[in-house]
Amino acid sequence: MTATDARPDSITPDPAKAGETAKAGETGKVPETANAGENATASASATHVDEKQARQVAEAAREADWRKPSFGKQLFLGRLRMDLVEPWPTPDPEQEADGEAFLAKLGAFTKDHIDGAQIERDARIPDDVFQGLAELGAFGMKIDKSYGGLGLSNLYYCRALAMAGSGSPSLGALLSAHQSIGVPQPLKLFGTDEQKKTFLPRLAGGEVSAFLLTEADVGSDPARLSTTATPVDGGYRLNGVKLWATNGTVATLLVVMAQVPKGPGEDGADHRGGITAFVVEGDSPGITVERRNAFMGLRGLENSVTRFHDVFIPADHVIGREGQGLKIALTTLNTGRLSLPAMCVAAGKSCLAIARAWSAERVQWGLPVGRHEAVAKKIAFIAATTYGLESMLDLCCMLADDDRNDIRIEAALVKLYGSEMAWKMADELLQIRGGRGYETADSLAARGEKAIGVEQILRDLRINRIFEGSTEIMHLLIAREAVDQHLSVAGDIIDPDADLGRKAKAGAAAAGFYGRWLPTLAAGKGQIKGGFGEYGTLATHVRFVERASRRLARETFYGMARWRGKMERKQAFLGRIVDIGAELFAMTAACVRASAERRPEGTELADLFCRQARLRVRTLFDDLWRNTDDRDVAFARKVTEGRYAFVEEGVVPPPTDGEWVAPWQQGESTATDVRRRIPPR
Ligand SMILES: Cc1cc2nc3c(=O)[nH]c(=O)nc-3n(C[C@H](O)[C@H](O)[C@H](O)COP(=O)(O)OP(=O)(O)OC[C@H]3O[C@@H](n4cnc5c(N)ncnc54)[C@H](O)[C@@H]3O)c2cc1C
Repeated sequence: MTATDARPDSITPDPAKAGETAKAGETGKVPETANAGENATASASATHVDEKQARQVAEAAREADWRKPSFGKQLFLGRLRMDLVEPWPTPDPEQEADGEAFLAKLGAFTKDHIDGAQIERDARIPDDVFQGLAELGAFGMKIDKSYGGLGLSNLYYCRALAMAGSGSPSLGALLSAHQSIGVPQPLKLFGTDEQKKTFLPRLAGGEVSAFLLTEADVGSDPARLSTTATPVDGGYRLNGVKLWATNGTVATLLVVMAQVPKGPGEDGADHRGGITAFVVEGDSPGITVERRNAFMGLRGLENSVTRFHDVFIPADHVIGREGQGLKIALTTLNTGRLSLPAMCVAAGKSCLAIARAWSAERVQWGLPVGRHEAVAKKIAFIAATTYGLESMLDLCCMLADDDRNDIRIEAALVKLYGSEMAWKMADELLQIRGGRGYETADSLAARGEKAIGVEQILRDLRINRIFEGSTEIMHLLIAREAVDQHLSVAGDIIDPDADLGRKAKAGAAAAGFYGRWLPTLAAGKGQIKGGFGEYGTLATHVRFVERASRRLARETFYGMARWRGKMERKQAFLGRIVDIGAELFAMTAACVRASAERRPEGTELADLFCRQARLRVRTLFDDLWRNTDDRDVAFARKVTEGRYAFVEEGVVPPPTDGEWVAPWQQGESTATDVRRRIPPR
């Protein structure tokens, strides 16, 4: 059974059990906030959500329980649990054979039938590419064979995305939005047998799905969600407008997140309400695809503004149960987040191939540019980072496939790290290519040069730092998991709403935990000469990770002791803590992989990657306590108040007409439906 086959225990379709789970949450704070969160979501209006409510909703959405071991959680607690990631997991032979066979077919299709330049030029994926991918089974890669899918492992799914994405990144986004966040994955995890039987075969056969959470007022903050699903006889009536739905113009099945009002409904039942996930037929009466959006990159993306007006959803189209929508979205993303870094790995590989060939060929100042130190450093960074990132992703995928570990932290780390590092790699490549890096592929080709559009790589990559959790939100999300143990023992001490009794109880629990835990941070195997000797020349790096992990835990503790309840506002500090964790996880993955593969070139790359990562870690540790954070925050307030507006003088000011966020209202659409229908072959 793969990780994604397993129904997470903390979210169960059995309402009674689910209630218990929320109450039995490990942290001291979660049970109250979980309940408050669901109530808050039910009652929150789009315009009146305060900071506390927004936090409660986010808190209620997280999985409170840790039922399986987590390498990431232990790492942030100062415990390097190599036993959780070694030996380097090996794919199941049957899944490997299936995966390789599919990759061969997809590779040939990508090479022979996908014209990435054409997709970029036309801003459109041709119908026959949709049809060809459907024939290959690419829309069912993650759907079980029993429902007509390919049942690929996470590892091969990600490799397939990387392959398709290398033909055109818009295709990677199409397939990943369809499978990682669209209908297949939440149904696989939370759907009823009936839902699976009804919808999964259609999706495996090539129907496209989309995931619709975002609204004009809902970006990073789902508490403001105002699409409503009002209970009526036999189901719900859906009203609202969803923004930026990838695949939204072509999808025939949608996952829609909507608020169900709490209390008695028109159907006579009492509803617990809250943000709820629904499967919605894309062709239902009342749905209008009002716009196809266009972006800086991913020009082939079929991304919509979709309006719902009195759309009827049958009661059995609820995924999970009412109020579970955000938990479902977050749990789906535990493995779903792996698809985005797969595209980042693909980008790293392309950057490396281009950098290698170009910098050996291009001669300036008497030498190939790759021999000049400034350029050489960039090539080395791209090579080492691609190796490190791929190691991190493959490890996460195989851990997900093994289903022995909780990988929520690791998957979030690889999304964060992958999107940031891929952007840096592409930027360095653009520099290596000089003026040609800034020139479009078509323009280069028109002058008789290779049609290598580095500017497009950069444009296509940029969104990865924003969607599926922006870097800022990923920092907060991972930091919340990283400090979970502390909140679970000492949360009530810093909770302003906790009474004296709870505080006293927490004080006693904290004294016990910290009395045992803090001494473990003083010494470890990373200080022992010859420790981790099984890693050969890489042992020095594993020792560094062990020492740094303990230091990371100590620094986190100091931060908590210093800022207590206010630490959640120290976003720059928390961001650095998380970034250190990401580097340490990446180093671990690179060392474990290189040792398992026993390939000298791999060991060399892992060694270089770790050396570069260690420098970044040192800087991050230094910056924890030596920085301009407080000053920056104070200044930012004065900037927004206009104190330094004079600095903006001397240029044409930005336009003043139009809205920052366009107002919208529920109601019938007045727009023409721009839905695109893909004809069956
Ligand atoms: C090309 C594209 C495809 C997309 N596809 C989909 C899709 O398929 N389905 C879907 O539902 N949505 C989709 N989205 C929406 C996407 O997920 C959101 O853009 C993203 O969640 C960020 O929301 P926002 O753009 O409203 O930014 P905002 O939430 O307005 O944030 C603005 C800035 O503030 C930061 N910020 C916000 N809150 C905090 C905080 N508490 N602390 C620190 N910083 C904060 C953000 O990181 C960001 O830098 C897509 C968007 C794009 C552009």
